[in-house]
Amino acid sequence: MDTFLDELNDAQRAPVLHKDGPLMVIAGAGSGKTRVLTYRIAHLMEQGVDSFNILALTFTNKAAREMKKRIATIVGNSEAKNLWMGTFHSVFAKLLRFDGDKLGYPSNFTIYDTQDSQRLIASIIKEMGLDKDIYKYKQIQNRISSYKNSLITVKAYFQNPELVEADAMAKRPRLGEIYQNYVDRCFKAGAMDFDDLLLRTNELLTRFPEVLMKYQDRFRYILVDEYQDTNHSQYLIVKALSDRYQNICVVGDDAQSIYSFRGANISNILNFQKDYDDVGMYRLEQNYRSTKNIVNAANSIIAKNKNQLEKVVWTSNDEGNKIKIHRSITDAEEGRYVAGSIFENRMQHQLMNGEFAVLYRTNSQSRAIEDALRKRDIPYRIYGGLSFYQRKEIKDVLAYLRLITNPKDEEALKRVINFPARGIGQTTVDKLIVAANHYGRSIFEVMDNLSKLELKINAGTQRKLGDFVTMIKSFQIMNEGSDAFILAEHVAKKTGLLLEFKKDGTPEGIARMENIEELLNGIKDFVEGQKELADSTGSLTEFLEDVALATDMDKDTGDDDRVALMTIHLAKGLEFPYVYIVGMEEDLFPSAMSMNTRSELEEERRLFYVALTRAEKQAYLTYTQNRYRWGKLIDAEPSRFLEEIEEQYVENLTPVNDGYRYKSMINADIFGDVDKSKLRQIKPQNGTPSSANRPNENQLRKLRKLKPELSATNTNALDPNLIEGCLVNHTRFGRGKVIKIEGVGNDKKAEIQFEKGDIKKLLLRFAKLEVL
Ligand code: ATP
Ligand code: MG
Repeated sequence: MDTFLDELNDAQRAPVLHKDGPLMVIAGAGSGKTRVLTYRIAHLMEQGVDSFNILALTFTNKAAREMKKRIATIVGNSEAKNLWMGTFHSVFAKLLRFDGDKLGYPSNFTIYDTQDSQRLIASIIKEMGLDKDIYKYKQIQNRISSYKNSLITVKAYFQNPELVEADAMAKRPRLGEIYQNYVDRCFKAGAMDFDDLLLRTNELLTRFPEVLMKYQDRFRYILVDEYQDTNHSQYLIVKALSDRYQNICVVGDDAQSIYSFRGANISNILNFQKDYDDVGMYRLEQNYRSTKNIVNAANSIIAKNKNQLEKVVWTSNDEGNKIKIHRSITDAEEGRYVAGSIFENRMQHQLMNGEFAVLYRTNSQSRAIEDALRKRDIPYRIYGGLSFYQRKEIKDVLAYLRLITNPKDEEALKRVINFPARGIGQTTVDKLIVAANHYGRSIFEVMDNLSKLELKINAGTQRKLGDFVTMIKSFQIMNEGSDAFILAEHVAKKTGLLLEFKKDGTPEGIARMENIEELLNGIKDFVEGQKELADSTGSLTEFLEDVALATDMDKDTGDDDRVALMTIHLAKGLEFPYVYIVGMEEDLFPSAMSMNTRSELEEERRLFYVALTRAEKQAYLTYTQNRYRWGKLIDAEPSRFLEEIEEQYVENLTPVNDGYRYKSMINADIFGDVDKSKLRQIKPQNGTPSSANRPNENQLRKLRKLKPELSATNTNALDPNLIEGCLVNHTRFGRGKVIKIEGVGNDKKAEIQFEKGDIKKLLLRFAKLEVL
């Protein structure tokens, strides 16, 4: 037997050795799911499966790279290189480059990032003359994105009266038209947004059986990590591709499903056994990551969730220290405590910065932590904030590069047509957009044919537009002969971008120039790195794709030693010896937006489970009594999750001996400006043990000052409360009775007999139902 299989326990070895056919590994955090996936791939290759026939889908490209590296040490580098491995988005972007032409896309299509999508939607809203306060472009982008992930095309949208009415009710009757225009404009620009990468792949595989067969045959073995967070669109792709050979291996943990707000569908895991025949089911129970204390504490938390698969997680690791809980008075003090504690631990235990992570519920919490770390000279890296590639000057250079590979790219063109300034005003651009819409062509094509079109643009401006077209075309010619780095450097100089920032002379201008230089270095590295890979030439298109799909995590080479700061969502799958989870407060974690229903609250609890299980040796939970939120000082109450951890696993660094483990004690004297009447008084009842003394739900609700609109009404219909026979109220159709429920997850529908007489079938995901 291969010796690397000795690095697995018996339970892990079984799925690795599982012969052909579908299999699923469901297991708790840190039990080696990702390791099983990695070793299974290596084993398949050792058994003679061609690496070209394996497809592995991971949560980040970084995870894919690490897996590939590990596999390379087992089977050799040249074989490992051929594996198709990466996130859904990066893998299917690649597939669409080969076959997207069948759907009418050029092989060098642009990938619009969220900012591009939002800008285009804002521009469409303006062109349609709509009120931007009602049609908020970010919300609309969100809505369109969720339609796409549920495979609701424009046509399907208009055929679904429930959706149309819901938007009409929300005073946005023209949302469908915006959706239509957005899709048309992206298509005309030869661009796909993130959601298109999945939607169009589905379309391709459904409409072109020969393409489906080609990839079914190619990807004879498909493996998916973090299966619990796949959305409907991703689920369908995997299902279609694995349909012929059924060699599908998925690993996941229902207790770590944390992306339902982005359409992830936990029922994909729950239904796996129904979807495939003869599924090999495997469970792993031994955690290798964390101490006994952390594992047991995490178990005690997740046990509070009603909706979950039964699971056992234990570890033979050391007992470890208790989880430390720290209360501070302000968020600034919380930051100072975390920085100080990192500093001390680092000194005391001779640790690297990279062994620490600070996790939070929302990005805005990072500021106080950053300030404190800076004061202590502790280097850190923030993941998931504004990424390098989203900085203005970087996007400017990239926009020129995008135009070179795809001159139809409307967002890129609008960005740089007059930057650096060349005397082409907004009125001219508006005229070009109108003409482009009129002729069904791209803006660049209109500019390229100005002399043949009768546009009211004066001769001087026409000449400037002509010069711009000529410049882009000259870059295109150069692109055929030289590599991406040489071209990019030429573009940065020739367009005047570098000069523009240099002229600026301010520190910001200089920083921007340095960033552009950094980008050029990055391109150089990329070109050199890619040339070593079997299937790559280091072209400009490849570089741009890499950038469009890059996350901060992917750029992390691990070279520099820094403390990691990120949201819990981003931390999924990762591990760190020391983990600080900050902001353990009601309304923040659990989030005020997510306590309306049991299902939302359970997702917050899963998020907490994910956070805690990232820690190997030591976890800290911190909360503060006062926090600046929305520009105001808010008195904060300790998170209910603190109470939920069994007491034996925690150590309170700032104890309060009044019967409540985490009672909020505001020292009002410190804050002359705090309204004392608002200070919360929780009166302990008899005795001291914690949970017995908790106020009942009603009292708690009052204490938490839950906004009424967030509590009783607006019940999310996906909540299991909705059963056949129950009475509901619909915002438009009134009261009714649920006759039947069908489908699961995002497809769950209810057939309702309304009192007004009619029977309707409503998609619960969108129906605003209140359970009576
Ligand atoms: P998560 O649910 O957080 O994604 P996971 O189930 O994917 O976790 P892994 O990341 O694969 O777990 O493994 C957790 C840690 O335990 C890793 O550091 C891994 O190398 C280690 N590990 C897993 N199995 C073994 C084993 N049999 N022997 C030694 N170490 C192991
Ligand atoms: Mg994992």
